[in-house]
Amino acid sequence: MKAKRMSSCSCPECGSTLQFTEWSFVDSELDLEETYRLTNGTFFKHICPECGMEFNSYHSLNFNDPRSRTLVRYIKNDDLDNKNEGNVSHILLGDENAPDYTIDVLFNPISFMDCIRQVRFGYISMENGAECAN
Ligand SMILES: [Zn+2]
Repeated sequence: MKAKRMSSCSCPECGSTLQFTEWSFVDSELDLEETYRLTNGTFFKHICPECGMEFNSYHSLNFNDPRSRTLVRYIKNDDLDNKNEGNVSHILLGDENAPDYTIDVLFNPISFMDCIRQVRFGYISMENGAECAN
């Protein structure tokens, strides 16, 4: 699995196009900066260089924590809608050949980052009250 690629999104305020690195897979032991940004909630945040607008642009992402043997997956609704229902189980569990792993699948990016905090620190944000769906 290729972990990252260049992607772009549009500023919701002024319409400018921003380039950013879109990750499909973050490993907590290899990708320290990205793991930090996931746990502090800024991973999906962008700042428009034209107008300074701060906004979030979400995309599907897998987060692997080898220490706790947990894989946390965020699947963006758009990605799910593109597949027919029969293929959903493949999307959810397709390529993991790790039966002793806990796999959490979330469809909300805020819950996804809460789940990662819980995996890393045993901590759940009281604001959002989300729990891992395992
Ligand atoms: Zn802008």
